[in-house]
Formats: sequence, C-alpha cells, structure tokens
Amino acid sequence: MPDKQLYIETFGCQMNVNDSERIVTMLADLGYAPTNDPSDAGMILLNTCSVRGGAEEKVYKRLENLRIYKRDGKSQIIGVGGCVAQQEGEALLRKFPYLDLVFGTHNLHLLPDMVRDAERGERRSETGFIDNDRRLDLFPSIKGQSRLSRFVTVMQGCDNFCSYCIVPFVRGREISRRSADILAEVRQLADEGVMEVVLLGQNVNSYGLKTASEPTFAELIRQVADVTGIERIRFTTSHPKDMSDELIACFGDVPKLCGQMHLPAQSGSDAVLKRMKRGYTRDSYLEKVRKLKAVRPGMVITGDMIVGFPGETEEDFELTLTLMAEVRYIDLFSFVYSPRPGTKAAELAEELTRGQKIERLERLQERQRGITREISRSYLGTLQKVMVEGEGKRPGQLSGKADSGRIVNFSADSGLIGSFVDVRIIQAYQNSLLGELV
Ligand code: SF4
Repeated sequence: MPDKQLYIETFGCQMNVNDSERIVTMLADLGYAPTNDPSDAGMILLNTCSVRGGAEEKVYKRLENLRIYKRDGKSQIIGVGGCVAQQEGEALLRKFPYLDLVFGTHNLHLLPDMVRDAERGERRSETGFIDNDRRLDLFPSIKGQSRLSRFVTVMQGCDNFCSYCIVPFVRGREISRRSADILAEVRQLADEGVMEVVLLGQNVNSYGLKTASEPTFAELIRQVADVTGIERIRFTTSHPKDMSDELIACFGDVPKLCGQMHLPAQSGSDAVLKRMKRGYTRDSYLEKVRKLKAVRPGMVITGDMIVGFPGETEEDFELTLTLMAEVRYIDLFSFVYSPRPGTKAAELAEELTRGQKIERLERLQERQRGITREISRSYLGTLQKVMVEGEGKRPGQLSGKADSGRIVNFSADSGLIGSFVDVRIIQAYQNSLLGELV
C-alpha cells in the first residue's frame, strides 16, 4: 500500500503527460501515491516544457513558490524533469538549493534511484542523452490507469530541426520503438479493457524509416488494427512532409483509424515555410489535405500556426488566413512567435513588435472561431457513434468522443460507460456537442 504522496505538475505537450503517467507508475513501486494537493505531498515534481518562450522563467517562478513546501521536520522532495531540466541541468541545483533532483528527457528510468538518493538527502542531476539502441528498452510503459483511451509511445525525438524549434535539442535524435514491443503493449492494453489507442511521438509519420527491419507507420497502424479489442486508433503528431500516400490510404481502408488528424502547417506562406525549414510548400500541404478528405469523407484536421515569424509580411499572414479557409481546421492551436535561444530562427532579425504580432494572432483566432463554429453546427441533426468514456460535467450526463474526436455529452445511464452508442446531435458548442441517445 502506498504510504507517501506524489504531487506532479505537467507542462506542455502530450509527450509530457505520458511521461508523467510513467513517473506515477514507477514511483508507485517506491510507495508513492498521486495526490492533487502539494501541501500533503512527500514529493513534488515539475515535468516541464520549453517549446514556448519564457518557459524557463515560468519554471523558476514555480520553483520559488514551491519553497514554502520545503518545511523543517518534513522531508519533502522537490524535483524538476522534462525539457527545461534537460536544458538547464545541474545549474538548477545550484540556483535552487532546496531542489533535490533534476532529470532530463532520456533519464526517466533513473528516477527511482534518484528518489532513493533524495530520501537519504543526496541531491542529483541526470541529463545525459542516450542516443543508442539502449534507448529502445527505455520507452514508457504505463500501468494502473483505468481509462478506455490510452497513449502508446511509438517513437521519440526529432531529426527535423525546424528553425524555430527547441525539441531536437531537448528530446534528442529520432528513434522508433520496436514494433514487437508496441504491439505487445497494445495487446496488453486491450486485455485490460482499453478500446482506443493514441499512437504517440514527435513525428509519428517517420516511424520506422531509419530501420529497414521495422514496418512503416502505415503498416504499424494496420498491425495495431488487427489487435482484437482495440476499436479505435488515433495518432499524434504528424509532420506534413512525411505524410505518405500509404498513410493517407489507411484513412480510406482501416475503419478503426479515426477520421481526425493533427497536421501542423505553421504558416500558409512558402517564404515563411522556407525560413522555418519545414520542408514542404503551401501547395504540397494542401494537396495532402485534399487527398485525406477524398479518401475519408468527414475527415477533420486540426493544426498549429505560428504568427509573426521573423520576416512575416502582411501578405504572408494573409496567405496563412487563406490556407486556414481552404483547410477548414476544426481546431487550430495558434501562437505568437517567440525566439528560443540556440535555434537558427533566434538569429533572424525581427521587424514586428509584440503588439503587431498579437494583433495578427487575434485576427487569426477570430477567423478560426468562425470556422470552428460552422463545422460544429454542421453536426446538428447528424448521428454520431460515440465511445462513452465517463460521466459528463452535468449530473445525469455521460461524455464520450465521436470519431472526429469531438466531445459529445448526452443524458443516459452510467451503465453505458465503456460501450459505443449512437447519439443524435441537438446542440453545437465551440468545443463540444450535445446530443440525445438514439
Ligand atoms: S518536426 Fe519541427 S517543430 Fe516538430 S518537433 Fe521536430 S523540429 Fe520541432
């Protein structure tokens, strides 16, 4: 029985959420149970992200705040992991004398050892990269979660070096997990009652491309679809340049593969895409979107957009708006560009003020709200097959996801949790749909 409490705060992307779940799994063996209250916790961990500007300052500030929990007479351990830990390493221990451990993105497996040391009062920082085959044995495998939908890591790291991005520096080179290990994990999840898997990686589209003996990502999806009990497959995230026709075809003939895809464009202007070193053009991106929508009617696309990249003119920005109108993203994650030290783009001159960038961002987000609203309304009156995942926010309501990934709430008995039901949509909101059970 766990007798100690672990409070963990996770910043940033799904990879970090997955890593945090793995941390909870590993530390359960040392007697730590998760808690939502840091004042109760024997250990407080921050799992950090450095993709957006100001990330280090945010972590510093949070660490300052956490000092109050380090009380005399109560041996509270404080640690930092993730991308900021990877970047800053031992310097964090020097800057924050009450910090006990710092673990990088390739060092999660060392955490139990580091915690044992911290319990004895020994402070430690581990941020070495493991860019060899040993890393294949260190992929996260998560136990003890009772959700119907689970993430399965298929690859890690990135070789693309987009000019604005810090990820290759803090997550290391791209490596694909053995397909045999992935399939074993998926089978085990199916045995535990999991119905949906989300295949996870920094750029899943390039899965297996470096290893002749491994399947391509499209082949891997087909193998996962063969696992009995798995009813739905999603994946994230994808680089448009590595989106093959073979993968697009899966959306047409693998019914378990959901008709939803996150395909970050980042800009609609070729000039900007070139400076971003994205490796595709506006036309080739749009061509892939057209093919996806052709093989899978109702296919929805989500994306990421960076506004105010160095040299972005009003014309370039207008091209981003017209690209959005052509793609018709159901959701778009948009950000103002901020330079990340150490990246190529940080060396480019910036002409726009922060105010000008924010003004463009607001215009873009306003445009996107309109598109999302229209797509949402197009579901009114339709029948959606919903995987019922749990109670909704309102009493008597259940909540689940449609094939498109849209959240659908409806009134029904909780006995339906864990099944698929048909729901007719009667209300469309910005982020969810309301329906009635058919
Ligand atoms: S593909 Fe580009 S943006 Fe995505 S993680 Fe790799 S370098 Fe960063």
